[in-house]
Amino acid sequence: MSYDNLIKCERCEGDACYVQEVNESITNYMCYGCGFQTNTLMKKGEEFFEQQMETLPDLYKELMGEDDEGKVWMPTVINLPSKGMVFANGTKASDWRWSSVKAVPVKKESFMNGGWICRQLPTMMKKISWMP
Ligand SMILES: [Zn+2]
Repeated sequence: MSYDNLIKCERCEGDACYVQEVNESITNYMCYGCGFQTNTLMKKGEEFFEQQMETLPDLYKELMGEDDEGKVWMPTVINLPSKGMVFANGTKASDWRWSSVKAVPVKKESFMNGGWICRQLPTMMKKISWMP
């Protein structure tokens, strides 16, 4: 049986970690305190995790961290297709902040003009299936 609930975050110990059981083998965790997320498949050696590692920006890989159960936490990407998205933006783990972009109708080619966002967004958006 699936459920959703707020629990204590295993990463930041805050009390606003949203946990959602998707099915028997997958449970999602998203913390409103630290802004990081994970799920029960985000463990080293899991195929899902290895797939994520292939597509994630370097910054996300640098910011990842394991909890006591071996789940790997990474910054959340919030994507509201009609509004925009919020994501971790920066050059390295010691120099980043949350950034947002407003959703605008664009052609794929518009993203190919250099700059961090321009370089990273096509990958991220492909991953989250939002590219028009
Ligand atoms: Zn947290």
